[in-house]
Amino acid sequence: MTPIQCRSARRCNQITCATCAWRHAGQVTRKVLEGWDGPFYATTLTIRDPTLDGFRSFRMEMRNRIAYLRKSPVWRNFGLLLYRTGDGTLRGTAALSGLGAADMWEGLGGRWAMTVRLILPEDLRFEVWRCMRPAVMPPTLTGRGGYQAVRFSVSPQHQRSHGSTTSRSCLPQFDEPMPVVI
Ligand SMILES: [Zn+2]
Repeated sequence: MTPIQCRSARRCNQITCATCAWRHAGQVTRKVLEGWDGPFYATTLTIRDPTLDGFRSFRMEMRNRIAYLRKSPVWRNFGLLLYRTGDGTLRGTAALSGLGAADMWEGLGGRWAMTVRLILPEDLRFEVWRCMRPAVMPPTLTGRGGYQAVRFSVSPQHQRSHGSTTSRSCLPQFDEPMPVVI
């Protein structure tokens, strides 16, 4: 297969392209930082069946679970963004808003094996990128728009309006070079 050229004038948007993955992480992170309330936690979930079918079932189960938990107001601004990686685990970020880490654990950890780690907002882009960079994506995943098959996200019910509490100048700048992960 001939690799598609990726230039600044015309991005390839392939999930196998490190440059485009880094840009995607930047776009996702900007949206999260503008609308979701921290603290932010890096999250890893293990699901019974990590195939595409199993992931689809998980998405439905998790949506139902969060909808149920949202009967309690403290869960309403919880946000979750996960990617299905090549090793079968789901990795991503949770925005806890009014919840404590123990509440999240109690609400979700009993159903799925789960690890959480507090992260700083300025590290969010790097954390997102670690979860969806080409090297960790499922090997069968190819082509454009591929993240649809690997991404799960539930946004907070009441997202902050654009820049209401976070001014743009507070957001990290996204033009720094891509980090190297070994
Ligand atoms: Zn590209």
